[in-house]
Order: sequence, then C-alpha cells, then structure tokens
Amino acid sequence: MSRRISILGATGSVGTATLDLVGRAPEGEFEIVALTAHSNVKALAELAEKFRPEIAVIADNAKADELADALKGSGIETAAGPVALVEAASRPVDWTMAAIVGSAGLEPSAAALQAGSSLALANKECLVCAGEYFIDLARQRDALILPVDSEHNAIFQSIYPGQDKFIRKITLTASGGPFRDWPVEKMKSVTREDALAHPVWSMGDKISIDSATLMNKGLEVIEACRLFSLPPEQVDVVVHRQSVIHGLVEYIDGSVLAQLGSPDMRIPIASALSWPERIDTPAERLDLARIGQLDFEAPDKQRFPALRIAREALLAGEGATSALNAANEVAVAAFLERRIGFLDIPRLVSDCLEQLDADHALPQRFNGLEEALRVDRLARDRVRGQLASVSA
Ligand code: NAD
Ligand code: MG
Repeated sequence: MSRRISILGATGSVGTATLDLVGRAPEGEFEIVALTAHSNVKALAELAEKFRPEIAVIADNAKADELADALKGSGIETAAGPVALVEAASRPVDWTMAAIVGSAGLEPSAAALQAGSSLALANKECLVCAGEYFIDLARQRDALILPVDSEHNAIFQSIYPGQDKFIRKITLTASGGPFRDWPVEKMKSVTREDALAHPVWSMGDKISIDSATLMNKGLEVIEACRLFSLPPEQVDVVVHRQSVIHGLVEYIDGSVLAQLGSPDMRIPIASALSWPERIDTPAERLDLARIGQLDFEAPDKQRFPALRIAREALLAGEGATSALNAANEVAVAAFLERRIGFLDIPRLVSDCLEQLDADHALPQRFNGLEEALRVDRLARDRVRGQLASVSA
C-alpha cells in the first residue's frame, strides 16, 4: 500500500534531498499530497510536474497567479499564502517532512502534527521556539517526531527503545564551520561568500551562516534538550572536522553508542522516511581507511560566542530561546544582505535578549503556540529597530 506524504519546504536543500529519495523508490510506494515553497514558482512547478502532488502551495501570496499559470492543465491544485500553507499541511498523510527554514515553519509543522501525521523534523526552529508545545502535541496526537537534523537523528538511532532513562549524556558533533581555524582579527572582515563556503555540508544559506557562527550548534543544543528531555548539562558539543560521527550517547555504564556515515543529508532523511525500517540511498559509503584519522576538539567559546549565548537562553527558558532564534534570523538576513558584519550577528542577538529580558518580555514557559509567535515578532521588531538606527 502506498504511503501518503507531504513535503513542506520542497524546493530547499532538505526538501530536494527528500524528493531525490522519493524519486528512487519503487513506483507507487509514495503518494504525494502537498509540496510547498516560499516564492520560487519555477522550482516548485517543476517539482510538482515531476512528483504529481495533490496540491502545490506557494507561501508568497503575490505569486498565486504565476503558480496557477505554471500548473494550468496539469490537474494539480494550486494555492498561495500562509493560510493555504497551513491548510495543505493539515491534509491527512502518514508522514510529513518539515523542511521550511525558520520560524515560518512553526504553524504548518504544527498543523501536520495536529492532523496526526508523523513529523520528520528538519525545522529545528519548531523545538527552539516552542519545544514544549510540539512535544506535547505529538504526545496528545500519538504522532511520532522523527529527527532529521543529522546529530539528532544519530542520537535517536543510538537510543535503544526503553534505554533513554540510562543516558548519562549525549554529544553533538560540529564540523566547526569555515572559520574554525581563523583568528578573531580575520573573522571581523568575513564576507558573505566566505561564510557560505561550508567545508563539509552543502545546505541552505541561513543554516550555512549559522554553522559559521556556531549558532547552529547552539540551536541544536536547545533542540536536543527538548527532543530528548535532557537538562542542558547533559548535552555536550565537540568539534569533529571530518563530520563522520554525527552524535554520541553515553550510558551510565560507560558504553558510548554513536551513528556514523558520510556527511550526506540523504542518510538521516532516509532513516526518518523509512523508520523503523531502512531503505537504500545513493550516499557515498563510509571508507574509514581512506579517511584515516578522526579529530576532536572542544569548541572555542571566545571566537564563537553564539554557543554561549544559546546556552544562556536555554537556561532562561522558552521566551529567551524563541527570541534568540528570531533575533538570529533577522541578523543573519542582514548579514546576507551585506548590511552588517559577521561578528555583529551574535552581538545583535545578545543585545536583543538583554533588552527583552530587562523588559520582562521573556516568559520561562509558553502557554501555546501563539505566545511563542508573539515573542518571535517582538524580537524581530527589536533587531530591525536596531538595524534601522545603525544605518540611519
Ligand atoms: P533552504 O533555504 O534550502 O530551504 C528552505 C525551504 O523553505 C525552501 O523550500 C523555501 O521555499 C521554504 N521557505 C523559506 N521561507 C519560507 C516561508 N517564509 N514560508 C514558507 N516556506 C518558506 O533550507 P534548508 O537548508 O533545506 O533547511 C531547512 C530546515 O532544515 C532548516 O530549519 C534547517 O535548519 C534544517 N536543517 C537543514 C540541514 C541541511 O543540510 N540543509 C541540516 C539540518 C537541518
Ligand atoms: Mg545539524
């Protein structure tokens, strides 16, 4: 029997990697219900022609006619705007890939869980901004959250069912990003191109910048605590430049289990797509003799303050982590537009958190998704205000 699936953020790096695997599956194995994208009509229409979903949705309202024209006569339903996106995500399916970038993914991902779909979660922002809400919702709907972020997927695979209560700590590996060996003086003049040139992984722009500041690892520590119900002190980070080991779980008896594989997102995506079974992937096989050596080192907290800022936010609670994420999204977008320098990113985020904390605007726990989105908007406005005053 074919499985009904939807892919939110189908045109992105994770979305296209997911469709690559779906395209390799035997005919009839998957029936695609919804494919969605932000504003690239051409890319979405091409994927829709190839994968024949029930509906294709473009989040940008202004692109409604363009998408309808592009798919005219195809028999594929089209829709546009954030409300249509949530409606499409709510259509009954067995499995949904949540691969929208940023907090724009919160409402559609929540809608999929609400409808009872298993949620393959690439969009770490869901757990960073509203972790309790998502974990509770999955529990209430008896729906699985399958982590797609490679480190979390590795840890998920390394926990034998029922043994989570014996975990002493988990470790997320970090490649260290393109500036892992750069002196701080040189980091001041990093360009957009330098920061987008990730040494190991090929990813969307936003997460590539986050990997360069190590904010990505900070967001992942928060994601891990919420996903695996662990306190911050039980989640470690180690820089491992080859990105061969993705995550490790240490148990109370001293056993450490880990998942290894070549750095190709199709491996964790395949794990989530086929769980609890396995499927073949075209990913490069791991050849340890050729790799020869695996290196590990502690992250440099001085040169990469984002990791510390994220840990402080985690201790402060959900309001702080939601604000951290929103402030970072705005700062990264400004860096990508060449409006601010690389080292301004963590500084803007930290300033925003300090201000909102002083205003008592950051609740320790949220009461529902709307509250998380309210803090998200507040933090965005704060950073935009700061950017406007800098450029004025
Ligand atoms: P990407 O930028 O390549 O793709 C993002 C997708 O989201 C696109 O389809 C885009 O059209 C859509 N989108 C963007 N803004 C939107 C909006 N406002 N409304 C609706 N749709 C919108 O990003 P990516 O690298 O594929 O990452 C997606 C998510 O997966 C992120 O949360 C990222 O942190 C996470 N992730 C990615 C990787 C990776 O290797 N790329 C690894 C781990 C986790
Ligand atoms: Mg990751």
